Amino acid sequence: MKEIILIKNGELTLKGLNRANFEDALIKNIKRRLRNLGEVNIRKAQSAIYIEPKTEDFDFEEALQRVKLIFGIAAFSRACVCEKDMEDILSKSVEYLKSTMENIRTFKVEAKRSDKRFPLTSPEICRELGGALLSAFPHLKVDVHNPDRTVFVEIRDFNAYVRAEQIQGAGGLPVGTAGTASILISGGIDSPVAAWTMAKRGLRLNAIHFASPPYTSKRAELKVRTLLSKVARYSGSINLCIVPFTEIQEKISECCPEDFFTLIMRRMMMRIAEKIARDNGSLALITGESLGQVASQTLQALVTTDNVANMPVLRPLIGMDKEEIIRISRNIDTFETSILPYEDCCTVFTPKHPKTRPTIELCEAAEKDLPIDQLIEKAIAEAEYSFID
Ligand code: ATP
Ligand code: MG
Repeated sequence: MKEIILIKNGELTLKGLNRANFEDALIKNIKRRLRNLGEVNIRKAQSAIYIEPKTEDFDFEEALQRVKLIFGIAAFSRACVCEKDMEDILSKSVEYLKSTMENIRTFKVEAKRSDKRFPLTSPEICRELGGALLSAFPHLKVDVHNPDRTVFVEIRDFNAYVRAEQIQGAGGLPVGTAGTASILISGGIDSPVAAWTMAKRGLRLNAIHFASPPYTSKRAELKVRTLLSKVARYSGSINLCIVPFTEIQEKISECCPEDFFTLIMRRMMMRIAEKIARDNGSLALITGESLGQVASQTLQALVTTDNVANMPVLRPLIGMDKEEIIRISRNIDTFETSILPYEDCCTVFTPKHPKTRPTIELCEAAEKDLPIDQLIEKAIAEAEYSFID
């Protein structure tokens, strides 16, 4: 029996004239994500996308798992391919739906006939298939109002399809359709969630990580890579830039008042990230900041970090509680990695009493002895690039 994955587009249907572009982007993303599972044909027709394995060895179960994580898909289902012939539809349906039907008590059939040349009308198809299922599974009853399961039959262009249950997709918009942005990624809980949240709205991601060896270890860097590869299961591949930050932090602790360490460090991160982001085609930065979570995330502190960036800083977690962030992080499977106890560059030079109500003027005064341009240039020159898939 031949089985396919059938995708009905959710939010994509709202996009009017852009719709074709969105669908093409989605198909490209699906192709990329399913490559190396075997030969497959992906095509669109009549507001649906068909994923049709071409060979026996295609890894169908793995394909389902991957499709579940692709943004731009609200729901999808596995479906059995039948000839456009009632005999074939009946016999294949009974076999295909066997395991589903054994576990339920009531069902109904819905039929849709896009090909009006098919000899039976939709109500006739429902009646015939309903009858066949009742005699094959005598414990079943038809309930048209509140069935345990609805069986869908569709008579389409080349074939008829019998669908089993719908599976919820990842939702959102196809990655790439909203442009590109750079996530400032630490090893913590928040920034991977922020990355995932924005990829969900169609952004392609680049990532920037500041590392402070020897204060931070190779394991901390590996942790960031693991987190990004988990995000990449949803967002597709991510270019990572690792920026050496040790010298900057040492210079800050040498030249600046202690209560401003964190703020000045964050201002340096923003300045550097913006330059790298412009180079890699990003139109915005993304951070995992949440209002009031720590001293450097009060509104006053955010004003002072925003002030040095000349591109929008997207902060999708700004209004979320830690609990909500943790819930998402568990759902996308980054939580267990995020809580591994490796030191982050921020924790190394934390002041005892960080400034919580800074102003731009106070920050500028506090960093007046810092050779800002020179430090930025050197850090960018020594940055290392890699690719996360
Ligand atoms: P997270 O859980 O993401 O580490 P956090 O609550 O620990 O966030 P901070 O350490 O203040 O908060 O960092 C705030 C944001 O700054 C992070 O969400 C991230 O976007 C960015 N950031 C922090 N440290 C780094 C780093 N070493 N490299 C790149 N970006 C960083
Ligand atoms: Mg952190």
